[in-house]
Amino acid sequence: MYSEETTYRIRIIGLVQGVGFRPFIVLLAKQFKLFGTVDNRNDGVIININCSSDISKEFVKQIQKQAPRASVIENIEIKEVPFMGFSDFTIVHSTNNAIKDEITEVSPDIAVCENCLQDIKAQPKRINYPLTNCTHCGPRFTIIKDLPYDRPFTTMLDFTLCKSCLVEYTNVLDRRFHAQPIACVDCGPSYTFKSIDGKIESIELILENTARLLENGETIALKGIGGFNLICNANSQEAVTKLRNSKHRDGKPIAVMFRNMETLEKYAFANNAEKEALESWRKPIVLLKAINKLPQSISVGFNSIGAVLPYMPFHYLLFEYCKLDSLVLTSANLSGEPIIISNESAAEAFLPKIAAIVSYNRDIHNRVDDSVAMVINNKLRLIRRSRGFVPSPIRLGMQVDGILAVGAELVNTFCIGRTNQGIVSQHIGDLKNAETLEFFEESINRFKHLYKFEPKYIACDLHPDYLSSQYALRQDIQVIRVQHHHAHMASCMMENQLDERVIGIIMDGTGLGTDGEIWGGEFLIGDLSSFDRFAHFKYIPLPGGDKVTKEPWRTAVSYLYSAYGKEFAELNIPFVKNLDKTKTSFILEMIHKNINSPLSSSAGRLFDAVSAILNVCTESSFHAEAPMRLEDIIEDENNSEFYPYEISNGIIDFNQMIKALVDDIICQLPISLISTKFHNTVMQIIIEVCNQMRAKYKINKVVLSGGSFQNVYLSKKLEDKLSAIDFEVFVQSKIPANDGGLSLGQLGIAAKVLEEKRRKGE
Ligand code: ZN
Ligand code: ZN
Ligand code: FE
Repeated sequence: MYSEETTYRIRIIGLVQGVGFRPFIVLLAKQFKLFGTVDNRNDGVIININCSSDISKEFVKQIQKQAPRASVIENIEIKEVPFMGFSDFTIVHSTNNAIKDEITEVSPDIAVCENCLQDIKAQPKRINYPLTNCTHCGPRFTIIKDLPYDRPFTTMLDFTLCKSCLVEYTNVLDRRFHAQPIACVDCGPSYTFKSIDGKIESIELILENTARLLENGETIALKGIGGFNLICNANSQEAVTKLRNSKHRDGKPIAVMFRNMETLEKYAFANNAEKEALESWRKPIVLLKAINKLPQSISVGFNSIGAVLPYMPFHYLLFEYCKLDSLVLTSANLSGEPIIISNESAAEAFLPKIAAIVSYNRDIHNRVDDSVAMVINNKLRLIRRSRGFVPSPIRLGMQVDGILAVGAELVNTFCIGRTNQGIVSQHIGDLKNAETLEFFEESINRFKHLYKFEPKYIACDLHPDYLSSQYALRQDIQVIRVQHHHAHMASCMMENQLDERVIGIIMDGTGLGTDGEIWGGEFLIGDLSSFDRFAHFKYIPLPGGDKVTKEPWRTAVSYLYSAYGKEFAELNIPFVKNLDKTKTSFILEMIHKNINSPLSSSAGRLFDAVSAILNVCTESSFHAEAPMRLEDIIEDENNSEFYPYEISNGIIDFNQMIKALVDDIICQLPISLISTKFHNTVMQIIIEVCNQMRAKYKINKVVLSGGSFQNVYLSKKLEDKLSAIDFEVFVQSKIPANDGGLSLGQLGIAAKVLEEKRRKGE
């Protein structure tokens, strides 16, 4: 029949490696009774099939409809090619002699699938087996040591497949065909329970014991996918306090894992987009509005809650054995250090402070924290991008090959450039912590090894003291230094494949500016290669430098002093009355004599100052606490009043706003309303400046980036308002708007700068 048929070649681009895509195609082809081949290549999955044009179209339609759940199809091309004779449908292996055909895409880790959950109830060799997985689920990035993604190159190397697993592994019609971490009770890794009373190895006893301890208010260290978690009863103030004490953790809110969506909805409100995120195979922690208050020790007073659904077989089994409906789930680490991945470190850090360590003997090679996300205007926004997302490449509109971008310092990620892809690392953390710095360097080395990547250029922040910049400068490679807020702007542009002049609104904490001052509330005009600063928040001294992030009251004093001069000390508001006189006069002296009081236009610090002036948060116990609390007290989202402000010569002056806001405090206006009016003021300023910029430059595209856009109230309303006046608004969804996304922006700027140098023949 061949003569009547034609060969069609279908190329599928996206996340299609290591997610069961080829077996799916084989099955589909068999259903269609088609002959041909399927082949994995680095630039996608290639299918050749013999059929009519209509059938080829229907085949493609079904691929899109039925694709494996963890696959992401970004593009499908179909074209006719010279006829090839086939007598079956088979998986073929691309010849590895051409480097471009090597498979070098690594899938993120995938939450356990429904079928595997069935198997741990019904399949004899997998009853209660918590390391069950298949081609549609299970660990990926966390276990991979080398490419190609094959069992011997993962931490499953030491486990030899039993006969029956081998049958599954080699049968193309089986759900576990080529599932590299495939395992069963007989041949796979196993769990252990360790307490001061000894060790338990029977899974039923482990579950039994863990459940009882949790019900009794104890803390357990549980090995997760990318590192250890600490878990305890989320409904007991006492249990949560105990957990916090074992970790010497700052006052941050902690996430809660719920038994299922039904129990989650008793505590939090989730709209459809939020539910979709919670239930997706990536299973991030999603920030939701709380309905019922959980213990104070979890929420620490916030009206939101970080919620997550079970994602490992062990989680599901545990909820079966345990009466509790909600468990605290937090990274097991000592403050500031990376998440713990080895049994020894877990024991050393936590025993005997906690009741037990529940672990398994499959090693974690690449550590990843749980990812944290939220939904704004129906779009997912990542706050921490790790498990389930990394190392999915970000497809870019330009070539970035051979560039390593090392990111910022406090919320670090790095990024490597390969052809037109940016591969952003997992969340690394604060490099000032020695262990985290080690994790940073180790992860760069692992990426280099895994992706056979040798950087030809390094991009880093302009700030020479950032430990990431110092790392870059130590390498014997050409360094391209990138201004922090230009990198934020570029990060959003790269994600949205914008390579043109745009308006960049960057509302951020702090970053070194090109004038040597500390920037943060910035209105930039420019493209990837250069920018101008159109306007910015007025400089204000930050008495104490870095200290102000932990002590927002210092910035508050600075703003009040700027608005009132020394008279501010007479103001009849609680914040001023509570000020320590000696400390305050010391601060004023610092400002006067310009001692350790760098000038800053930071947006984050403005939010800090207002939060302190309202007495909402004068001292901060975790990163961005003051702005978060300021946003959290907003009640009336429909109020659109705002305070007066002044813009002249590109300088945005808040003195009038501070005075009006203080008047409101004196008149005893509810602080919730004052916070709303403050947020509205920032929004109003952004809109006014955007209009000015559009009028001057005839540019309509606005990119929003920087940590302050994690403020839901601000982002949601601003995006709506800008769109309503016909701006084309671009935001970040695939990577964080905070410093965790900075490395991608650095990568883009470096690529562009290099390209221009090359063009000019430099
Ligand atoms: Zn599965
Ligand atoms: Zn087996
Ligand atoms: Fe930043």
